[in-house]
Amino acid sequence: MPHLAPSHASRPVGDVIFTLNREAQDKAKSGRSVVNATIGAAMRDDGTLATFPTALAAIRGATDMQIAAYAPIAGDGAFLHAVRTDMLGSVPELLESSVAVSTPGGTGALRHALMNYLEHGQSMLTGDYFWGPYSTLADEHGRKVQTFRLFGADGRIDTESLSVELEATLAAQGRALVFINDPCNNPTGYSMQPEEWRAVVATLLTHAQTGPVTLLVDTAYLEYSKGDTRAFLKELTPLLGHVGLLFAWSASKAYALYGARVGALIACVQDAQDRIQTDAALAYACRGTWSNCNHSGMAAVTRMLVDSDARASLAAEREIVRKDLFARADAFNLHAKAKGLNYPRYEGGFFVTVFHPAADVKAAAMRDQDVYVVPAKGALRVALCSVAERDIVRLVDALT
Ligand code: PLP
Repeated sequence: MPHLAPSHASRPVGDVIFTLNREAQDKAKSGRSVVNATIGAAMRDDGTLATFPTALAAIRGATDMQIAAYAPIAGDGAFLHAVRTDMLGSVPELLESSVAVSTPGGTGALRHALMNYLEHGQSMLTGDYFWGPYSTLADEHGRKVQTFRLFGADGRIDTESLSVELEATLAAQGRALVFINDPCNNPTGYSMQPEEWRAVVATLLTHAQTGPVTLLVDTAYLEYSKGDTRAFLKELTPLLGHVGLLFAWSASKAYALYGARVGALIACVQDAQDRIQTDAALAYACRGTWSNCNHSGMAAVTRMLVDSDARASLAAEREIVRKDLFARADAFNLHAKAKGLNYPRYEGGFFVTVFHPAADVKAAAMRDQDVYVVPAKGALRVALCSVAERDIVRLVDALT
């Protein structure tokens, strides 16, 4: 007799990305020359995971008590202060209004947002190219995903579609939670320009007059965008007091500590009473899920955020990886434009997405050439973060 609850008895087996990656790795082990653009982790050109010695030393430098003792439920105070400052320090208005709780990676922050800003059965809203686990997270927590068209005909964020879908969502459920993964959106690679942020903010403000609207900015790839990585934050200040504002902060890519599971949900709440309630709700959610997070991981990340020497050496190590990724983006743009591939404006980050009407068929044909990408509806996700620069011509040829 099956013992799983019927609602959980037909979960899909495996994950498409990990399955494709395994196939690519098995082929490579058998001696074939494989281009594996499936995995969302930054790899060096020699195929090894790009790690930061400062981050590894910080983890190894944890004290016995940091390793063995429980962390506080909502996260270590020094960690939360350091993370809030890291994310929002350049915009005092946002920083001063913020509270945070620690989460296992950005994933945990997304989970808390879904559970605390939507009721059971309600839908979150995100662009129609989105990180697949948004659906899994929503489903696992009794929520759903609705989408707006991410790109308009001009190739920029389609705020008209956002507006239409927001209106429909508010009419249907009386509240809205919008996830925007920027900069370096996964899977498209797109980073919004300041005027696009302003248009999104104006749209959210308009609809916030109808019911509670909350924006979650998923900043998983924050450190890998071009220029001032936090420049967009000042565009968000008009939301304070009108639209809920959340940030999913993650150490996974920023510190190449994918497995340490260090992250935070940061909430900017202007009203002091609301802020206390928010803090309580989020801490309660921590207790009710994972209890508390990786203590030594938090300690290590805190050290890299507050100790000026560790901060500087980490930034220098990260800059090497950033440069590698920008070089791959430049090489991709050079060849992909020459071949006429159809993809969004792309300046850097872990991924780029190539639009394709028959993505599944195309990805299968590419696999026959030992080139692995991840097919999605109408698009192929290309994880340039795991492709050596020397393989980019072959990758683009296969995509053509
Ligand atoms: N958001 C996006 C768009 C991601 O691609 C990822 C990881 O791949 C995450 C959030 C969460 O990552 P983690 O839970 O490791 O911080």
